[in-house]
Amino acid sequence: MIDFTIPPDLDDLRTRVATFVREEILPAEERMPEGHLDEEALAQLRQRARDLKLWAPHLPPEWGGLGVGPLGMALISQELGVSAIAPLVLNCSAPDEGNMHLLEKAATHEQKERYLRPLAAAEVRSCFAMTEQASGADAAGLKSRAVRDGDNWIINGEKWFITGAAGAAFAIVVAVTNPDVAPQKGMSLFLVDADTPGWEVVREIPVMGTHSPGGHCEVRLNNITIPASQMLGAEGQGFALAQIRLGPARLAHCMRWIGMAQRALDIATARARTRKTFGAPLAERQAIQWMLADSAMDLYAARLMVLHSAWLIEQDRPYRQEVSMAKVYVAEALDRIVDRAIQVCGSLGYSTDLPLERFYRDARAARIYDGPSEVHRMVIARNVLKASKDEDGSTKSACGGLA
Ligand SMILES: Cc1cc2nc3c(=O)[nH]c(=O)nc-3n(C[C@H](O)[C@H](O)[C@H](O)COP(=O)(O)OP(=O)(O)OC[C@H]3O[C@@H](n4cnc5c(N)ncnc54)[C@H](O)[C@@H]3O)c2cc1C
Repeated sequence: MIDFTIPPDLDDLRTRVATFVREEILPAEERMPEGHLDEEALAQLRQRARDLKLWAPHLPPEWGGLGVGPLGMALISQELGVSAIAPLVLNCSAPDEGNMHLLEKAATHEQKERYLRPLAAAEVRSCFAMTEQASGADAAGLKSRAVRDGDNWIINGEKWFITGAAGAAFAIVVAVTNPDVAPQKGMSLFLVDADTPGWEVVREIPVMGTHSPGGHCEVRLNNITIPASQMLGAEGQGFALAQIRLGPARLAHCMRWIGMAQRALDIATARARTRKTFGAPLAERQAIQWMLADSAMDLYAARLMVLHSAWLIEQDRPYRQEVSMAKVYVAEALDRIVDRAIQVCGSLGYSTDLPLERFYRDARAARIYDGPSEVHRMVIARNVLKASKDEDGSTKSACGGLA
């Protein structure tokens, strides 16, 4: 049976999250100048999130969370996405959320106690260090190298655009451990404490979007020497584990983008209802109605793609093609929706009195990080061609797998 009903407990949680965001988080955020996180206000909001039983919804109860699966998180994150700080308040923001999932899946008991425990309690922040100046969209070009030396690994290299690196307590570092095999089999993950000699945050790279905690950093790895027990997962599993992390993490971004896009449409629609030009409200002009309608359709398609992809993950079914399609579609829909909202609001939309110009700057990065649109399209097309070859000319299985 196909059933789109939201279970009552989940709907209750979603409603409580939406109310908390609207009544407490957004007003607090409006009091903070852009990019200046008020740590005291954040701590108070986090306490409220705990009191309201909204803390760390994505984590299982043994890690202090609510045990909500990917489908439930899709609903909750859409509510969180309307605010830049709401995911931080509930301790499910990038990159920590993805790192928590990865640690939960791949870490040993000792590693979990040492790294996941404080991260789950938001006592520390973390980062995920994969990209390098010479290796971005194509991870096969990764140069950072880890060499075994007795009971230790010695890591050298440089990383680029590492979100949250400044002030992070630890990093999950991707490095090549075997250059003689295919790149996908020659990478491993390492847990590197930020106070390890040789971990050097060179600078926060200035960017066009909102400043997030710890910025986007250039990092050097200078002869970092760590015990073998700091490897996360098995040797050679780095690429596969990074993909395990990235699948749901990409979807988590989509969910937050939908929240942002919905808020943009809400703002544009409210403005269209009240702003009069040439003797009538904008809302009565077909040119404006079509923009609102196009954004509504974009949002509907985006929601269904995200919910279906989340369902596939929850059901333990193959999900990578669907997540790639959702990632490209939602990132590009976000651009279109925010752009239309600015157009409807005119000079007010272009001003910093509304959050739309900030959304516009933040949205631009969505088509680049976690795989640029072009690379996802390359993978999606590859699967379409493969399906055609394997399935007697039908490409249905590569188009969402729905009959
Ligand atoms: C805000 C932000 C936060 C980030 N945070 C992190 C982080 O925390 N950790 C981390 O490891 N990385 C992070 N990144 C890096 C991100 O993952 C990379 O930007 C991404 O993988 C693309 O790599 P690149 O920027 O080097 O682009 P490049 O590899 O230089 O590619 C440039 C452009 O070329 C095009 N292109 C590339 N390959 C193809 C192809 N095969 N066919 C057609 N066109 C192609 C695409 O349009 C792409 O945008 C972040 C990036 C941003 C912008």
